Amino acid sequence: MSKILVLAEYRDGELEEVSRELLGEARRLVSTKQGEVVALLLGSSVAGIAEALARHGAHKVFVADDPRLMHYDPNIWLETVIALCQQQKPDLILIPATSSGEDVAARLAVAKNWPLLSRSTKIKFRENRVEVVRPLYGGKLQESTRGISDAPCLVTVMPGVIDVPNPGKSVETNSEVAVVPIEAVIPRDVRVKVTGFVAADPDSLDLTEADIIVAAGRGLGHAENVALVQELAVLLGGAVGSTRVVVDLGWLGRETQVGQTGTTVKPRLYIACGISGATQHTIGMKESALIIAINTDPVAPIFNIADLALKADVSQLLPLIIERCRDRSETTC
Ligand code: FAD
Repeated sequence: MSKILVLAEYRDGELEEVSRELLGEARRLVSTKQGEVVALLLGSSVAGIAEALARHGAHKVFVADDPRLMHYDPNIWLETVIALCQQQKPDLILIPATSSGEDVAARLAVAKNWPLLSRSTKIKFRENRVEVVRPLYGGKLQESTRGISDAPCLVTVMPGVIDVPNPGKSVETNSEVAVVPIEAVIPRDVRVKVTGFVAADPDSLDLTEADIIVAAGRGLGHAENVALVQELAVLLGGAVGSTRVVVDLGWLGRETQVGQTGTTVKPRLYIACGISGATQHTIGMKESALIIAINTDPVAPIFNIADLALKADVSQLLPLIIERCRDRSETTC
């Protein structure tokens, strides 16, 4: 194995944390094989982000900087990645398991008949073949899968599952990193048109980047009580998470959902409010450094993974915690 291509993602002018995770992982994977890590960045006005990719482990950075790439466009991404792969011939392509990453990975797999191992949580090489681990049945089983084709292997990796060696720090690179501009490939035969984007709530923090998450479960009782979770999150400088039930009930947006079909998170503190602890939920948050769970049921499964289990009515306890936090923040001011 000699060359790994990392497809980078950015948002609001900053490299996404998952891109740093993939670069770190790619460097680890090639370290014993004297291989090369190349990164591809597609975007508009992204010179600064290309430099960040170089600082965080890429040996070479290819940049397609084009106003037509202001937002994710599956047509241009697909053709540009294929063109670069034809030239660079990577053995492994690491892609964030985000909505755009999963989308382009599936298109690449179909267009080129390359093997795709999606939503992986661990990657290694065995006998020169890539092998990944990924959860099945809501994390009850871990499946080990190997790519057995000689074609480049596409692997999408869940955000937040790989530790960044030195968060915020640059990776030592031996030589000057080349940033190589490339042309975006604009296909003639366009089959999908991006018609617009629905922005997430600008007041809510990105779950994957949040240090503290206060998460809402059905145990809150009714939609009005979600305001308690939101207020506590604001007071703690954190983000609001939720279970799928809460999203299905329409109490919060889908971008807040944590778990198997939502986001995987690993914050310093996760406060689960009225959440039962179904495996489909806990698979997305059980790696949190500290878990506090509030539940009226003493045998709720969430208590099995909680560091602090509070048997209480969440609608009565949250106002008390909020009041205490307000007192503290006023004292600090
Ligand atoms: P419930 O399971 O109903 O739990 C509510 C909890 O609140 C109970 O433990 C109860 O004791 C407690 N409670 C009740 N009243 C109070 C009170 N006053 N104070 C304190 N506690 C109280 N779920 C996800 O979260 N994320 C996913 O990504 C996801 N993906 C799924 C994928 C599939 C294929 C399937 C089948 C399911 C998925 N689910 C997912 C759903 C999951 O199985 C659970 O149904 C869901 O997580 C339960 O949400 P909950 O804990 O809010 O509700």
